[in-house]
Amino acid sequence: MKKVITVVKGDGIGPEIVEQALKVLDRVAALFGHEFEYQEILAGGCAIDRYGEPLPPESLEKCFCCDGVLLGAVGGPQWDVGPGHLRPERAVLGMRKAMGLFSNARPAYLYPQLAAASPLKPSLAENGIDLIIFRELTGGLYFGRKETFTAEDGLMTAADELVYNEEEIRRIARVAFETARGRRKKVCSVDKANVLETSRLWRQVVEQVAEEYPDVEFRNLLVDNAAMQLVANPAQFDVVVTENMFGDILTDEASMITGSIGMIPSSSLGYGKVGLYEPIHGSAPDIAGKDIANPIGTILAAAMLLEYSCDMKEEAEAVRRAVNNVLDAGYRTADIFPKDAGMAAGLTKVGCRTMGDLITEGVKK
Ligand code: NAD
Repeated sequence: MKKVITVVKGDGIGPEIVEQALKVLDRVAALFGHEFEYQEILAGGCAIDRYGEPLPPESLEKCFCCDGVLLGAVGGPQWDVGPGHLRPERAVLGMRKAMGLFSNARPAYLYPQLAAASPLKPSLAENGIDLIIFRELTGGLYFGRKETFTAEDGLMTAADELVYNEEEIRRIARVAFETARGRRKKVCSVDKANVLETSRLWRQVVEQVAEEYPDVEFRNLLVDNAAMQLVANPAQFDVVVTENMFGDILTDEASMITGSIGMIPSSSLGYGKVGLYEPIHGSAPDIAGKDIANPIGTILAAAMLLEYSCDMKEEAEAVRRAVNNVLDAGYRTADIFPKDAGMAAGLTKVGCRTMGDLITEGVKK
């Protein structure tokens, strides 16, 4: 099969981690007889430097003529001083919005080999963590009207509007229930229905959708309780579905309990098959260019791209197996290498490039 992949290396560690994922994709192409054409675009801080804007129209255009977009990360302190619309992060928000990507999926899986890297007590980590959070991506606070003004009392005041309509809620709820059917058949919807009007609508609509899936166990949870339950007993969760801001926060929490933010991929999809795939972390300027970043989140994002946008499930599984085998063989990047000398026995610390090479070589049919 021939597939066109738009590649956004971005800023900070973006270029070095994406390079590792491309090696893995090349290996998949050679082994399985596919052809991947990469069209590289500039977005984020590097696009601001070159074109004066984070997402130039010519970059965005290429996101529409491809099978999937693979993104490293964007941003960095040198661009934090500009006005809001000129921030690198606008590139990612702009792509999601323009491409109609309303459903962001972030799996949080604790590899048993990394149990010691999880900040959870061993007794909790041993129960396993294997959940997926669906975060609504194009509505809510982040996209509502924003204003800063001087109120009648003379005080500087700011407001962010939080709006959801029933269709925005229904479509992401359906994605969550459909996914649950292929997993352990449990959905937990997270809201703040005791306080927010939008959450009350959220709950009402998700409950309606739940009735269409009698084979899936369903429950609601308030967001503060969900945040607590995620660290108290993460094994209870299978599929979680929630709105934009709650999802933003809970997904970072869920990623941390799996050991490192560098391990987790994410996909953003709309109604069609073309999606945006990226690791969940940012551009990590503190470690950029040092060859110590963990490329696994990006490599697993490429695996998601193969499965969801290219119909290549077998190939995606081959990549996941390679990651698992390399961890089994004891190779670790610095972020997942135990600080404790005893626990580090038998493990080998490797850089970003070597980790990429090991996983590439490990991809087998
Ligand atoms: P970050 O995720 O970049 O880094 C947080 C911490 O995790 C740092 O200590 C970093 O070294 C570490 N880390 C992150 N990825 C790692 C990896 N692959 N391997 C090893 N360690 C890793 O978050 P931040 O420091 O808050 O943000 C840095 C920049 O990234 C900011 O400009 C922010 O706006 C941007 N950002 C971009 C995205 C995106 O592109 N989608 C997402 C989040 C943040």
